[in-house]
Amino acid sequence: MAEHPSLPPPAENQIYVTISALEGGSLTLPESLFITDADPQKRTTVPSLCFLIRHTSPESNKTTNLVFDLGLKRDFSKYTETQQHHIAQRQPTSTSPDTGESLRNGGVNPEDIGVVVLSHVHWDHIGTPSDFPNAKFVVGSGTLDLLANGGGYLYPKELFNHDELPFERTYELPPVNPQSTSAAKQQTEHKWEKLPAFDLHVLDYFGDGSVYIVDAPGHLFGHVNLLAMIAEGRWVYLGGDCCHDVRILKGEKGVAMYSDGCGGLRSVHVDTEAAEGTIGAIGRLMREVEGVEVVVAHDGGWRRANGGRFLPGAL
Ligand SMILES: [Zn+2]
Repeated sequence: MAEHPSLPPPAENQIYVTISALEGGSLTLPESLFITDADPQKRTTVPSLCFLIRHTSPESNKTTNLVFDLGLKRDFSKYTETQQHHIAQRQPTSTSPDTGESLRNGGVNPEDIGVVVLSHVHWDHIGTPSDFPNAKFVVGSGTLDLLANGGGYLYPKELFNHDELPFERTYELPPVNPQSTSAAKQQTEHKWEKLPAFDLHVLDYFGDGSVYIVDAPGHLFGHVNLLAMIAEGRWVYLGGDCCHDVRILKGEKGVAMYSDGCGGLRSVHVDTEAAEGTIGAIGRLMREVEGVEVVVAHDGGWRRANGGRFLPGAL
């Protein structure tokens, strides 16, 4: 007779993870591109939050260090010319500390990171992958094609670095709805499923219910989020760029539409309708399920209020 919908209860001997926020640099966003009824002049400098998730297996006592998102690149000369042109409209920016430095400042060597999950491959989340020589890179379905070929006229391939990721260490998650039998076969390793009380597809990364990768379509091809259990009844939802302003999740603001320069309208999302579906699902999780804390990548208010939860602190 639960009054509130709830996520799965902990299993016997449930493993919980530790999550620490990491600095990933900052950038400046004009409000009018992101929320409805915006102040046309207002620009806000926001962080690009990254997170360290530590998972210890009880059998082997082995800890896996997983980093979700890498923030901004430390060396802007490594961005393509088209990316640099775009970044010029996002000034001021800062990259000190970046994710690698934030880890070291908290006592963690980037070489000890075993897994990097990228919410998506936009410039302000891709960071400096070469700082993580021992990590497996996990990206959402469609990411590799996007890096190689771009994604239509609003997402030309020049907006991405095609050789950004160490491909021999990169694993692309299978699509939620496989079109071909070969994709269906890949699903045996990692299988998408639905949890009670949550409308998006998830994949149980460690197989023990502690960390789920969430298929969060809309913002960019392959956009994924993370849902993790940090204690009994306490979950953290890392929303990446599902939206750029938490007022949208609360239902107080909508997704802004603006000219695409070709006579049509666009938003900051590649598929606005899908993004709104994703936002709706996360918003319901946030409002209706007890014990879930939602953090989106560019939430400056969260960063200001949670300084003690950055590495070596924890959520
Ligand atoms: Zn972003």
